[in-house]
Amino acid sequence: MSGGGTIDFEIRPSSQPVSATEREALLANPGFGRVFTDHMVTIRYAEGKGWYDARVEARAPIPMDPATAVLHYAQEIFEGMKAYRRADGQVGFFRADANARRFAQSAHRMSMAPLPEDLFVNSVRELVRADQEWIPTSTEGSLYLRPFQYASEVFLGVRPAREYLYCVIASPVGPYFSGGLKPVTIWVSDEYTRASPGGTGAAKCGGNYAASLLAQAQAAEHGCDQVVFLDAVERKYVDELGGMNVFFVRKDGSMFTPELNGSILPGITRDSVITLAREQGRQVEERPVTIDEWRDGARSGEIVETFACGTAAVLTPIGTVRGVDGEFKLGDGGTGPVTAGLRQTLVDIQYGRAADPHGWTTTL
Ligand code: PMP
Repeated sequence: MSGGGTIDFEIRPSSQPVSATEREALLANPGFGRVFTDHMVTIRYAEGKGWYDARVEARAPIPMDPATAVLHYAQEIFEGMKAYRRADGQVGFFRADANARRFAQSAHRMSMAPLPEDLFVNSVRELVRADQEWIPTSTEGSLYLRPFQYASEVFLGVRPAREYLYCVIASPVGPYFSGGLKPVTIWVSDEYTRASPGGTGAAKCGGNYAASLLAQAQAAEHGCDQVVFLDAVERKYVDELGGMNVFFVRKDGSMFTPELNGSILPGITRDSVITLAREQGRQVEERPVTIDEWRDGARSGEIVETFACGTAAVLTPIGTVRGVDGEFKLGDGGTGPVTAGLRQTLVDIQYGRAADPHGWTTTL
């Protein structure tokens, strides 16, 4: 059973699913990451045996020996993606193959057994098939999917584990911006960095997020919503936010974004935005961007918009940037037209309201 996507899932429906009435009440105001569906996917891996025992079963706690490797050495990776209730009533996915590829790349960086990409895609589809009634029908509501994998071997030696558990859980989420797009205020972390050359910044591993929390707390202390991290060597270049990539828009309509330098997560939204912006006839550069260029450009009026992007919020305008040496605004601190337009274009594709010339969307 070590084969890839041909592995069959054993479906064990939950004996105690949430009632339709209770589910509807939960879906009315799900927030983010607190409400979960009835089922989960699990697949096990053992060295010499490969991936086996693929299941869709009732979501439940996972018993864990205190010597389980992940609890000690953090061999863990995850993904974040969504299932959408499309305009035509079908269930849609957006670039699930890209999440599968990134998951395999993250596994490689963390010395973990890679899950075959077709098995990743199938696992997500199986869970959504079982729990599709949990997909919100509200505008910009979606079912957030969280595939993850961790070292499940019970062993305290420091080496790659020989056993892994892969799991997918799902959480209905409401619209990220319920009252319309709201520009965020960003804190420039001068003290902490997120990723260094040769490190794990390009992998979606839990440790990266643990390392970002203290900077995020400082951001909150300074009245900011999010942190932007600078490069670890010179503290001169803009890398990305704690959970989003960043783009800059010039007054001539051209754009630029930090290049994938090994310390930045290669965002699927980022990649999609580059494609869509170029199709709008915009020039888009991927290159190093200094914090000085951003500040000076914003102040001179050369840079008119900046936005952050990722699966959760799609595109988020950045209105104000604050640091130890003062703050600056982008434009009038509101939502710029390029940000709003690209966001709408992308969301329309995701929800099946617009043509999808790139074949980014699939249905259940
Ligand atoms: N950077 C980081 C650090 C992230 O966690 C995410 C969210 N996955 C992103 C960027 C955006 O990636 P994506 O567009 O694939 O969601």
